[in-house]
Amino acid sequence: MPSGPLRPARTPRPTTSQPRTWALPPRVADALGKLLSQSHALTGDSLQSAVQFAQQSSIPLHEAILRLGFVDERTVYATLAAATGLDFVDAREVVPTPMALRIVPARVARQHQALPITVDDRTMTYLTSSPYDPDAERDLSFTSGRRPVAKLACPSDLRIALQHSYRDNIDIEGLLSQARSHTRSSVEAIHTFDDGTPTDSAVVELCNTLVARAVDSGASDLHLDPSDNGILARVRVGGVLEAVLALPADVARMVLNRFKVMARADIAVRQRPQDGAFAMKVGGRRIDVRLSTLPTTFGEKIVMRLIDSESELQSIGTLGYDEQLLARFRRILDRPDGLVLVTGPTGSGKTTVLYAALHYLRTGRTNIVSVEDPVERTLPGVNQIPVNARAGANYASVLRSVLRQDPDVLMVGEIRDEEVASIVGQAAYTGHLVLSSLHTIDAATAVTRLLNLGLEPFRIAESLSGILAQRLIRRLCPACRTVDSSGPAAGPGCPECNHTGWGDRMPVAELLVPTPEIRAIIGRNGSATELRQAMRSAEIRTMRDRAQLLVAAGATTEHEIARVIGTDDAESETGANARQTVLVADDDPVTRTLVRLLLERDGYAVVEASTGRIAVDLTASKGPELIVMDLNMPQMDGYEAIQAIRRIPSATKTPIVVVTAEDGAETERKVLALGADDYIVKPFEPTVLTARIKAVFGRQRLAA
Ligand SMILES: [Zn+2]
Repeated sequence: MPSGPLRPARTPRPTTSQPRTWALPPRVADALGKLLSQSHALTGDSLQSAVQFAQQSSIPLHEAILRLGFVDERTVYATLAAATGLDFVDAREVVPTPMALRIVPARVARQHQALPITVDDRTMTYLTSSPYDPDAERDLSFTSGRRPVAKLACPSDLRIALQHSYRDNIDIEGLLSQARSHTRSSVEAIHTFDDGTPTDSAVVELCNTLVARAVDSGASDLHLDPSDNGILARVRVGGVLEAVLALPADVARMVLNRFKVMARADIAVRQRPQDGAFAMKVGGRRIDVRLSTLPTTFGEKIVMRLIDSESELQSIGTLGYDEQLLARFRRILDRPDGLVLVTGPTGSGKTTVLYAALHYLRTGRTNIVSVEDPVERTLPGVNQIPVNARAGANYASVLRSVLRQDPDVLMVGEIRDEEVASIVGQAAYTGHLVLSSLHTIDAATAVTRLLNLGLEPFRIAESLSGILAQRLIRRLCPACRTVDSSGPAAGPGCPECNHTGWGDRMPVAELLVPTPEIRAIIGRNGSATELRQAMRSAEIRTMRDRAQLLVAAGATTEHEIARVIGTDDAESETGANARQTVLVADDDPVTRTLVRLLLERDGYAVVEASTGRIAVDLTASKGPELIVMDLNMPQMDGYEAIQAIRRIPSATKTPIVVVTAEDGAETERKVLALGADDYIVKPFEPTVLTARIKAVFGRQRLAA
């Protein structure tokens, strides 16, 4: 065995749960002892015992004095302040500024028992009871992007002040107005189940608004994802999760509870999954919401599926496919047997397609059965059987009993596991028309997925009728879109499109109907790549082909396609080399160049804008991760630009650092009113700028 270099015996590392053990500098400890003795608060003997106790227990002297009960807390800390030369502050009388609370996240403040009270462009002043805590200083400096300046306070007062400050920071009204800013529809709860728990009407309003916002944006579901700092409300639109609102911990709890109460889930249960449902009227239409909860390491997560039961049942002719695809799709549905799959990520419209297919099939066929989890809408003429997998019902056993009745057409909501795959495969192979869905990126991958689920290649080769893979992409608002040499682009927004530049969503699909060559490839267990090549030779249009046609027709943009389908270069999607992009908006070219050079040196990619208008356009097209925005610019100033940026769905949460000429309360008020994340005062030093930007990214990571 090779012997390593000799190492000293390992000393046990203190864990964070242990009491803090940093010692006072000897000079401070001496001064503390002397001052307490001089004021006759402490006798010489008591001081000796306290010094000994501090050493034995590895705690600072002031804590030892307190624990021994020699002197009261206020006297000890006031004297410690004198010994250290720090100001002593009564934490009960301090009201931190909103900016200070924004700049130090609650999590960091609580972890270090440090209360930020004021900030200016260079410093962040905070209260602490532990004046020599290098970890706290480092974290506070990092999250604020400023030099931390400590003032001393009693720990018991500080704890209470921390609780109050970060609770008072809950601005439900503010959150509500943020949520409302993108919501058009009115909303009311139907059959609300009330358990008698008093609920803040603002919380009720906030929950309703979140649902309305999700419905308005055409979302398939609303997610409440827990983080250390609260929850992030996100909506899934066209398969993409878009952040809507970050809710701080205390509000988050109320919002989660409110939704659980509405869905008749048990609010006391957080450690195991629960299901529930409720209905709301949004913009006059009934929306059924299926709620499920899931415990995660950060806490409880809630996903709500939004089901618009009153939306008109689509026929396959109105889904938005081109004639060629539609004719082929009808042809495979007209066959008496075979497996028809619809694939795509969540929110790509699979269920809508399956229902449209059943709608098409129910005329003429006698026995149509669907097995769904859950049944999303009733369909006359179809025997719909709900499966509640979580309630213990077994998808596979339900399927088996259904098949014993030998239906002509079987629809299985989703193929989730090998058992279901095997039953579906068997049914298709034995002369049934079987419709189902799979969660895969394209048609070729669906085939390999079936193989991975244990279906025999020759059986798939024989029974597969077709695979429809699709995504939903946003259509440009035809009233305000622009087209120039670089292609179509979203317009500035107009009343037609609710000032978003975008209209409804449309499918881009590929329909794989196997040719004899493709069946041969499937039969010999070929790869997805081989299948794609064969599709190309068979001139089967891919999703990307169709998407390009839509761009050529001016219906959507390259950027939208890249967002939804991904780029051709699969490597670039992994983001291994993806640099964070910072948009720098300033009308002064010298400042812009300076900022760009500094940020590029730190590894950021930089895009520059000389006016607010350009900044808004670049935010929409480039999707920067952070924006540095000068407030005084020609044409459109920073104020207007920030408001316009917040209306861009993808940029509602993009951090913005405002560049301003003045410091002070007025600046802070403006920055907060604008919903910006921080500010920096001109002229600034390079290190100040880079520290500030790192801090904003750091806080964002903490909140994510
Ligand atoms: Zn428009």
